[in-house]
Amino acid sequence: MATIDYQLPQVVIVGAGFGGLRAAKALAKAPVNVTLVDRNNYHLFQPLLYQVATAGLSPDEIAHPIRGILRTQKNLTFIMSEVTSLDLKERKIITQQTSLSYDYLILAVGSETNFFNQQSLEEHSFGLKDLQEAQAIRNHILNRFERAMLEDDAIVRRAMLTFVIAGGGPTGVEMAGAIAELVRVLQKDYPDLDHDLVQVVLLEAADRLLAHLAPESSSAALEALTHKGVQVRLHTLVASYDGKLIQLGENEQLPTQTLIWAAGVQAASLVRELAQEKWPQKRIKVLPTLQLPQDEKVFLIGDAAYLQDASGQPLPMVAPVAMQQADLAVKNLLHMIKSEPLQPFHYKDLGSMATIGRNQAVAELFGARLHGWLAWVVWLFVHLMQLVGFRNRLLVLINWAWQYLFYDRAVRLIETGDCDCSDG
Ligand SMILES: Cc1cc2nc3c(=O)[nH]c(=O)nc-3n(C[C@H](O)[C@H](O)[C@H](O)COP(=O)(O)OP(=O)(O)OC[C@H]3O[C@@H](n4cnc5c(N)ncnc54)[C@H](O)[C@@H]3O)c2cc1C
Repeated sequence: MATIDYQLPQVVIVGAGFGGLRAAKALAKAPVNVTLVDRNNYHLFQPLLYQVATAGLSPDEIAHPIRGILRTQKNLTFIMSEVTSLDLKERKIITQQTSLSYDYLILAVGSETNFFNQQSLEEHSFGLKDLQEAQAIRNHILNRFERAMLEDDAIVRRAMLTFVIAGGGPTGVEMAGAIAELVRVLQKDYPDLDHDLVQVVLLEAADRLLAHLAPESSSAALEALTHKGVQVRLHTLVASYDGKLIQLGENEQLPTQTLIWAAGVQAASLVRELAQEKWPQKRIKVLPTLQLPQDEKVFLIGDAAYLQDASGQPLPMVAPVAMQQADLAVKNLLHMIKSEPLQPFHYKDLGSMATIGRNQAVAELFGARLHGWLAWVVWLFVHLMQLVGFRNRLLVLINWAWQYLFYDRAVRLIETGDCDCSDG
């Protein structure tokens, strides 16, 4: 990491997720000074968060220290701090500890859970966007089993052992499959518990799961989840949740002590004030060159950026979009420095996939549709290769092999700091 040369253009990048980290690396040899800012000191591989939440992986296996990743980059300084506001007029970002001036700014702040202004959901359900939330879910699920062992009332016990996930997109589907498998592993730990009381329920408002994939893939996901014991309820809308009962529509209530909210995300709060018009998920519309319409020296990439593809569809909030946009934002920034014309963004869609626990996945890649075991192997390979750091890849591979061979979930720990032991 660097000593700052103030003669060179100062580039500040906010966010060291998929987009920000990629942009920082792409600027390694450029004649600029880079300051990368993130509230965390690690880069998080969000696609495997659900495995931390279901005791399959530990947090350090899917997170990597940013200073370690960028240690050899001479033109880069890393600052761990929460950015609290942006001053585009003065070309400054303000963090909790300091303020930083820039010549060029790349905003790669991602997204956060969207509870659609439903206070009850925000208070009582779990989001799944960061490590703390994933660990809180793991602690809570394991804790429900401990509490159920001490509960005499069968109705309360059933609510304790009912795990509900709202949202039938990739996160909800993966989470439901993984909880169903965790529950099976826990049968061995709690032989005295009546496991007929355990339910895993996936709620989806639309008429099918994984609506971004072809109907055949949705049906395959539904079949695989049902086979694993998940109760999938389509056309089902969550109205509210008070920590004990989910109100479904007007007339139905579902007793549960666990609701995991995977039904929506929105652009990160830091950038929302930059919106000049309202776009879905409160994303901010950028120019095809990825600049902000109101300030050409600010690039906005990844989940928080709203841009449509050639057919008029919004680009999906996925890692490949963020990374490809990082590459173009860096190219365009360097073009600007040299007063060269900028290029528009074109997304190369390599496909998408979702895993459904052990052995099962659906994948649509390069125009081909895969289901079942083969899709699962492809999913494993793709995710393993994308993890940052050899250590993390090796540990995750060992963990997956262990889980596969022994039907085990190694990280079945309740951390006392997060233990919600008093509420059940
Ligand atoms: C559970 C889950 C599963 C997913 N599965 C997949 C998948 O299988 N495949 C796929 O392609 N995509 C998946 N995604 C989506 C993918 O993770 C995102 O599309 C991607 O992370 C977006 O990259 P980004 O750079 O825009 O933001 P992020 O990677 O989210 O990075 C944003 C960074 O900005 C930092 N930040 C935000 N606000 C501030 C602030 N005010 N101050 C300082 N730092 C800040 C954050 O700490 C974070 O490090 C998944 C997401 C989740 C949550």
